[in-house]
Amino acid sequence: MTTHLVWFRADLRLHDNIALAAACRSPNVRVLALFIATPEQWREHGMAPRQAAYLRAHLNELQQGLAQKGIPLIYDEVSDFAAQSDKVQQLCEEHHVTHLFYNYQYEFNEQQRDRQLEKMLDTVVCQGFDDSVMLAPGSVMTGNHEMYKVFTPFKNAYIKRLKEGLPECVAAPAARENALTVSADLHFDYPQTDFDAKHFPATEKAAIAQLRHFCKQQAAEYEEQRDFPAVEGTSRLSACLALGVLSPRQCLHRLLAEQPQALEGGAGAVWLNELIWREFYRHLMTYHPDLCKHRPFIRWTDKVQWQQDDALLQAWQNGQTGYPIVDAAMRQLNETGWMHNRLRMIVASFLVKDLLIDWRVGERYFISQLIDGDLAANNGGWQWAASTGTDAAPYFRIFNPTTQGQRFDATGEFIRQWLPELTDVPGKSIHEPWAWADKTGETLDYPRPVVDHKQARVATLAAYEAARKA
Ligand code: FAD
Repeated sequence: MTTHLVWFRADLRLHDNIALAAACRSPNVRVLALFIATPEQWREHGMAPRQAAYLRAHLNELQQGLAQKGIPLIYDEVSDFAAQSDKVQQLCEEHHVTHLFYNYQYEFNEQQRDRQLEKMLDTVVCQGFDDSVMLAPGSVMTGNHEMYKVFTPFKNAYIKRLKEGLPECVAAPAARENALTVSADLHFDYPQTDFDAKHFPATEKAAIAQLRHFCKQQAAEYEEQRDFPAVEGTSRLSACLALGVLSPRQCLHRLLAEQPQALEGGAGAVWLNELIWREFYRHLMTYHPDLCKHRPFIRWTDKVQWQQDDALLQAWQNGQTGYPIVDAAMRQLNETGWMHNRLRMIVASFLVKDLLIDWRVGERYFISQLIDGDLAANNGGWQWAASTGTDAAPYFRIFNPTTQGQRFDATGEFIRQWLPELTDVPGKSIHEPWAWADKTGETLDYPRPVVDHKQARVATLAAYEAARKA
């Protein structure tokens, strides 16, 4: 009998899952599903306990959903990618699998693993799909058939391609057999921290509902609201997109259903841009695999002499730098596993350009905390902020953490939410609480700035200049 095995990786959903739909296309085959956790490897990469908990919740939900359709999920745990391939090979033999289906992952090690596995499985037909993107890497290239290095022309070409034909969504598979009973909860040997299910949907159904609500009620105002962390103006769907609980095609179709002018630059266009940034970093990673090894895109920046200062690093990590907007943001990250995009830019700039600490240290810390940790987006964001990446901010552009706070959290509403020790600091003084304390004679249980921004700026410019000339 023909047996199809669907290997789930970062695509934990039933709807619009291309590999799953392809495996289930014929009613006359046996379909099995598989997930193989690699906790040892997650430890090595420092995956956030919150993301692990989120993954587990969605894996359990997927197991239930598949069981409803009569598809059993085989679950296993191994140490790393090599062991994953061995395990897949073993299961294929055990279950007489004839066809293996999976959605591509674009990270370098994952791609290598899949290539090797395809060689190992010489009697099994392997089929991979471009599922975690709207358009496959390689399909949006310059006139010289090269990957774009700058976002805006990439985006323009991307939108042109979308206008020529939208990528379709595939339906969830129909039930194949009688529903199976799932008795055991899947769990893996990895630390886990609870997540806030109000903001991060714990089921696929809830994720689809959140997408629907955002596109209908908020996408049109996204452009005006997205930069203000005190306002809930963004979708908070990043964790779902990172684990594949939603697909970007579902986002695109839902957006166009609610905001039909989004492709033409009308309402919703700015949200579409953000989805395209996500695609840009994924496409880029497939053409520049060095990014997965955390090498800077602009090579001379590797010569910047970074500081190693544990006290400063800890002040940043713990939200104790004396710069309220930075500290409030870091506490939001530590407590919820998520940080607003504007704040990600501010704290990344602060670590790299005020503390002169290597961006890779920040990149790793983010992954250790983020519920939406995603190699391509995180690496892209850090390289942008550190001016080491493609289409990054130029190195001499250095955010002033005080004026950023004044601009994007003018009344200090967000800061007060996360820094209770500043509750009594009135109005706009919240952005420079020490100046207020010195003037009024009040005492504050809050640190003075760990560095002087003006001096730090000069030192950073000198360090980048020296690296550029070296
Ligand atoms: P929305 O504003 O609603 O955007 C919709 C979706 O578009 C997001 O869910 C996300 O999938 C995608 N997106 C939005 N902005 C970007 C962007 N700049 N780059 C790539 N994709 C984007 N995003 C992650 O998903 N994982 C990360 O690990 C990550 N690390 C980052 C690190 C830094 C230093 C920076 C500056 C940005 C990082 N981002 C990361 C991008 C962005 O901050 C988050 O995607 C966004 O804040 C998530 O909130 P949201 O779902 O409400 O986004």
